[in-house]
Amino acid sequence: MKLNIQDTFNKELPADPIATNSIRQVEKACFSFVTPTKTANPKVLHVSPEMAENLGISIEDTQTEFFKNIVTGNEIIPNTHPYAMCYGGHQFGNWAGQLGDGRAINLTEVVHNNQRWAIQLKGAGKTPYSRTADGLAVLRSSVREYLCSEAMFHLGVPTTRALSLSLSGDQVLRDVLYNGNPAYEKGAIVSRVAPSFLRFGNYQIFASRQDHESLKTLVDYTIKHFYTNLGSPSKETYLQFFQEVSSRSLDMVLHWQRVGFVHGVMNTDNMSILGLTIDYGPYGWLEGYDYGWTPNTTDAQNKRYRYGKQPEMVLWNLYQLANALYPLIEEAAGLEAILENYRTQYDEKYLDMMRSKIGLFTEIEDDATLIQELEENLHLTETDMTIFFRNLSQFEKENPDNGSLIIQDAFYESLEQLPEIIQTWNNWFHRYSTRLAFEKETNVERAQKMNLVNPKYVLRNYMSQLAIDAADKEDYSLIDELFQLLKNPYMDQPESKKWFAKRPDWARNKVGCSMLSCSS
Ligand code: AMP
Ligand code: MG
Repeated sequence: MKLNIQDTFNKELPADPIATNSIRQVEKACFSFVTPTKTANPKVLHVSPEMAENLGISIEDTQTEFFKNIVTGNEIIPNTHPYAMCYGGHQFGNWAGQLGDGRAINLTEVVHNNQRWAIQLKGAGKTPYSRTADGLAVLRSSVREYLCSEAMFHLGVPTTRALSLSLSGDQVLRDVLYNGNPAYEKGAIVSRVAPSFLRFGNYQIFASRQDHESLKTLVDYTIKHFYTNLGSPSKETYLQFFQEVSSRSLDMVLHWQRVGFVHGVMNTDNMSILGLTIDYGPYGWLEGYDYGWTPNTTDAQNKRYRYGKQPEMVLWNLYQLANALYPLIEEAAGLEAILENYRTQYDEKYLDMMRSKIGLFTEIEDDATLIQELEENLHLTETDMTIFFRNLSQFEKENPDNGSLIIQDAFYESLEQLPEIIQTWNNWFHRYSTRLAFEKETNVERAQKMNLVNPKYVLRNYMSQLAIDAADKEDYSLIDELFQLLKNPYMDQPESKKWFAKRPDWARNKVGCSMLSCSS
């Protein structure tokens, strides 16, 4: 395995002078050198061939002892110096001080085909930032991150990626429901990959400590390597940088809304500076379309991070980033203008995105109303988001009365008892049909276009859970089946009919399928 190592992070940024894994507060440094913890009996369960190729790693390489040892932290790539990053964050609205990579260890950065990638192990042992926790990860949360991050990539959603999923061979104690019933689970490690894992919190920590020198060094580094089009550091450049981060974060959350992804923990330490979906924890996929839904049990009371609130939460997080960058700019007006623009920008882009989901490719003023009514209808009774939008592509503009037949598979209840709901839908389909008359596409052409934005297969919560339950019994076939399925989420895969179906009833209230805790 020959990697083109170009580790700029630990060459250009201030390091913690102490190079041990002992838990501590780290100041005036972006990271600490650490050593991954060796594991009892590592075993690679799955590798993403696409990601390996991106890194210049051949399939044969991924089958070696060396690869296994690297991706489980049992061996260090020669001439590299693994490190954990220092960051802070607002958790559920409150400033939480230093957090940092408590169980993530960056191995190194490599450049392949002109793309820089940081490779990170999640669950490879304690770091200075582990606080009171163990630095480890369990199989269930690792399967979820591994499958979902690659699935999101194939859906066209900006995201960190995954290279491998492995068992550590160690047992890890977790209290899944936080109800005083800890039990041992299988330890696991995901090797994940992104151009950078920097988060809003990496900048916030320096601003909170009034360490403006380190703040500037880190912002300049970020612009130099990841926002290369912005030019040399200046107040103007910093503002443009903030504008770019804002736009990318907006695009990210717009994609989440499009595919029905709910992140679950949109704390500022989980907001990538590159606008990537990062840190897959108690995330979930909408089954019934519901603005109020969150998968995260920790957030069940306030539902701060519920589906309908995600775009607003990105904005809240951008406010925190703006505060952190302010010392470098010292003028609020520019930052405020960008923040104030976010809502307008979002509303415009959201409308366009929703138009594309229902096959409108021109703009008419009333579209917003049509879409708003659609969203209201989707809330009338539990209506499966994925099935609804996918089946909507079969609508024929000449046959509005067939509308409710086309979408009936999306309903969780039998609608025979609910004639008013059918009537409401029929009314909407008539308006939709009238609106479609302004579009030039034939029914077939419209369906083809709609099927490129409305996925047929998403990683429903119960699907991951089935893969996890099987993996727990050493059957890893479902991990691979779902991995392969989700490589082509927009393509009809007739042999996989069972995955284009509503959540089964047994999964409605099952742990891991409906709600998840942060325990991972
Ligand atoms: P999260 O909620 O997963 O984004 O994590 C918030 C913070 O807790 C981050 O600093 C994580 O690195 C840290 N953390 C989460 N789980 C663990 C763990 N098992 N061991 C050490 N640190 C952890
Ligand atoms: Mg996190």
